[in-house]
Amino acid sequence: MQECTHSKSRITNSRHARFKGMSVIRRRRECRICNQRWTTLEVDEATLKEWHKSAEERLRAIMRERLIALEARTKARNLLAASPIPIEHNKEATE
Ligand SMILES: [Zn+2]
Repeated sequence: MQECTHSKSRITNSRHARFKGMSVIRRRRECRICNQRWTTLEVDEATLKEWHKSAEERLRAIMRERLIALEARTKARNLLAASPIPIEHNKEATE
């Protein structure tokens, strides 16, 4: 079936639903010309902005944690490189 590109549709069903933690209105639509059906989700602008803001904050927290881990690894590597004992000997000593 070809993708519908018509702009005239009617709503056949409408109900409240949850999507990614947001309250949305789920609508079933039907093209008035070719009768294809699809689903759209309607969310109010304030809810979407709030969701976007919290998603950004979650992403920043993940990036901060990764950066801290990376800095700790770099620091440990630099300490090993500055060690007067070759790394192979260090490894044997801990085994
Ligand atoms: Zn159509």
